[in-house]
Amino acid sequence: MPQSSITKRQSAIVVGGGLAGLAAAVGLAQHGVRVTVLESRNRLGGRAGSFTDPASGQMVDACQHVSMGCCTNLAHLLRTVGAGHLLAPQPKLYFVTPDRRTSVFKADPWPAPFHLGRALFGAHYLTPLDKLRVAYGLAAMLWARPDADPPLLPWLLAHRQNRRTIERFWGVVLTSALNETVDRVGLKYARKVFRDGFVRHRDAFTVHVPSVPLGRLYGDELRTWLAAHDVEVRENTGARRLAVSPEGRHTEGVELRDGARLAADWYVLAVPFDRVADLLPPELVAREPYFAAAGNLAPSPITSVHLWFDRPTMALPHAVLVDCLGQWVFDRGEVAPGEFYLQVVVSAARDLRGLGRDEIRQRIVDELGRLFPPVARAKLLRAKVVTEHSATFSAVPGVDRWRVPQGSPVANLALAGDWTATGWPATMEGAVRSGYLAAEALLARAGAPARLVRPDL
Ligand SMILES: Cc1cc2nc3c(=O)[nH]c(=O)nc-3n(C[C@H](O)[C@H](O)[C@H](O)COP(=O)(O)OP(=O)(O)OC[C@H]3O[C@@H](n4cnc5c(N)ncnc54)[C@H](O)[C@@H]3O)c2cc1C
Repeated sequence: MPQSSITKRQSAIVVGGGLAGLAAAVGLAQHGVRVTVLESRNRLGGRAGSFTDPASGQMVDACQHVSMGCCTNLAHLLRTVGAGHLLAPQPKLYFVTPDRRTSVFKADPWPAPFHLGRALFGAHYLTPLDKLRVAYGLAAMLWARPDADPPLLPWLLAHRQNRRTIERFWGVVLTSALNETVDRVGLKYARKVFRDGFVRHRDAFTVHVPSVPLGRLYGDELRTWLAAHDVEVRENTGARRLAVSPEGRHTEGVELRDGARLAADWYVLAVPFDRVADLLPPELVAREPYFAAAGNLAPSPITSVHLWFDRPTMALPHAVLVDCLGQWVFDRGEVAPGEFYLQVVVSAARDLRGLGRDEIRQRIVDELGRLFPPVARAKLLRAKVVTEHSATFSAVPGVDRWRVPQGSPVANLALAGDWTATGWPATMEGAVRSGYLAAEALLARAGAPARLVRPDL
């Protein structure tokens, strides 16, 4: 039973059916609000979504997504809608270098932060002195002021890191976690990754891989839950603009792309940062710095390479690639009779920009062939290269000055999205937190305050 519910049945419209919008819808519905979700595409999940591969009819993730043990709100959302069992924890991570050597990264049965000490000191791709440098850098990072956000690279160099530790340790972890390279990020989110992801709790670093395509993870169970809680989901329904009263105090409705207009008591705008300004009255964006802030965020791309081979190629479920073009490779097994599917992810993929898809595919296949000899012997049946140019915002130093809190200056409007102020990088966890925070902001304004955000591990 909800702890509080609004006495007169209130209604809300959520624009955007990504994780932020879905979390807001779930949070509001749990507290008695009748919610309508408007999603412009023909599916839910937003950037964490799948497409149907025309060659096979299979549901394929646009890009492999993983979560971690520290992502408590995403786990809560999935448990709430009955999909928690579809995330598979990976107790071990495999780090592979171009010489084909592998280090297994797993926790010892010691309390945090000592649980990963042996794993770090066992890494074959760092010298003993490098490991001491890393340990020193980590200690200094954890002692840094939580809000200090100087450029990371000079900070690392000032804290005894060298090219090897930057490329093989800091870069390997942070480029994937923040979707940005070490030379572009600030200290704050780097610290967040190591503190929340590795140091604070034994289970925080455990990577969770969906055991089904994202389209399924955010599919049937979620829809069943939403329907049972009176949430109407309208796909293929794009919003053109929110109508806001002339003095900017009140949202009056949503104008749809087909010209129809919908109205509710409360509104959540849960779209990517580069869509916000277009969906609001231009004079409001010009007048209120709050609404213009998202315009300062810059995008960072991710490229994923999908490969279908005629036989099994990897003996590992996944591998983190050190000193390689690809950063992670996931073996998704035999997805159709005689089709063995690998996916390679390249985060912060700016260096691939000038290359065509065939060139990217070839470089990745050649690299995998050198790392895993069965790949070189296998026949490549099909391949697909997908680049999401605006995969996430870039976590540059001081980025938080453009990440606004969810409660907006318009009384009945909240913003949500991985780019809003969550204290988290752009992740599924950040998106869900933003949705819960947006719902909290509106419930508080409706006089029915509730706590939705789950505590950290
Ligand atoms: C390639 C890639 C790989 C990633 N890998 C990971 C990972 O491994 N782990 C992780 O945690 N995160 C990962 N992320 C980040 C994660 O996907 C996002 O942080 C998260 O999904 C963002 O959710 P959101 O709801 O904020 O935004 P979105 O998912 O972008 O949702 C916004 C929704 O609004 C809809 N919309 C836009 N305009 C309108 C309109 N006018 N009317 C109606 N609807 C509209 C969009 O169609 C979309 O569905 C990855 C992202 C990408 C792109």
